[in-house]
Amino acid sequence: MTNTPRTPDDCEDEYMDQEDLVDQCYVRPEPNLELEVFDAVRGQGGFPVNPVRLTAEDNFHFRCHKGVSCWNECCHGADITLTPCDILKMSKHLGVRPAEFLAAHTVPATFDKSNLPVAKLKMSGADGKGACAFVGPEGCSIYEARPATCRYYPLGLVSMKMKDAEAKEDFHFIVTEPHCKGHQEERELNVAAYKAEQQVADYERVDRGWIDILMKMASWATLGGPMGKDVSIQTKKMFFMATTDVDAFRRFVLGSRFLESYEIAAEAVEIIKTDDEALLLLGFDWLKNILFNEPTLVLKEQILQGAIAKARQDMGAA
Ligand code: SF4
Ligand code: SF4
Repeated sequence: MTNTPRTPDDCEDEYMDQEDLVDQCYVRPEPNLELEVFDAVRGQGGFPVNPVRLTAEDNFHFRCHKGVSCWNECCHGADITLTPCDILKMSKHLGVRPAEFLAAHTVPATFDKSNLPVAKLKMSGADGKGACAFVGPEGCSIYEARPATCRYYPLGLVSMKMKDAEAKEDFHFIVTEPHCKGHQEERELNVAAYKAEQQVADYERVDRGWIDILMKMASWATLGGPMGKDVSIQTKKMFFMATTDVDAFRRFVLGSRFLESYEIAAEAVEIIKTDDEALLLLGFDWLKNILFNEPTLVLKEQILQGAIAKARQDMGAA
């Protein structure tokens, strides 16, 4: 296997040598990380972040409605990274498959903290500062399928793992952009109530694995990447395919030696043939396995032995 850039389509057609993949992507045990941050704000940056750490029970003033003087302002020039769940729900809402949605409504980008590829919602205008394709006089025309970032706003998300801590801890903070008058409204509610109102539960459940990968890579990036190196272009392409285009990833899983290489129950194989969310979750497990060597998927014995033998050979061992 070479590091020549390939498209996800190349990967579907081509025999994927899992031994090489293991060899190429294997990462040594995780260092003791202190802080992993994922923000979910939609401004262009430089906006004031209220540094107060909000828990689910903490209150804040906010209401967005058609009567505010800033109505729709935030839907222009917005910087919105789409999550895997966003792409599924928006595609379904528009009656297209993810590949068509990606081509029409997104621009490729790099999630800068992690150096991994993501899709951002396309804004109009040569400089990307124009209107979102879905904004109209009445507001968001795809309100029921609007992205997670639009739902959370004006909340940002931090996921933190202190040194030696067992688990990550999530909390929110408020982003106060000067143009947003929603903060001056009388309505006061707590973070949990706001999140329930904005119906973010599906997104939190489905996207968790993706956020975990981005955050862990962001932490690794501070060290220069896994083993001090950036991940290969090919691995980034596989990451993009598995997290944005379920149809391409399904063709890869069912059409390559993937199922011969990993222990996956027959019932699970049947489910991922039609269930897009289940396939996304499998994709996150696979990525965690190849990027971080997490035991999220189990390689079949003969593949594992082959990879070990190859590693030993490369090291000059007998
Ligand atoms: S998706 Fe909807 S809420 Fe989000 S920026 Fe576009 S129009 Fe606004
Ligand atoms: S109140 Fe804030 S969120 Fe609502 S339209 Fe105005 S800028 Fe956008």
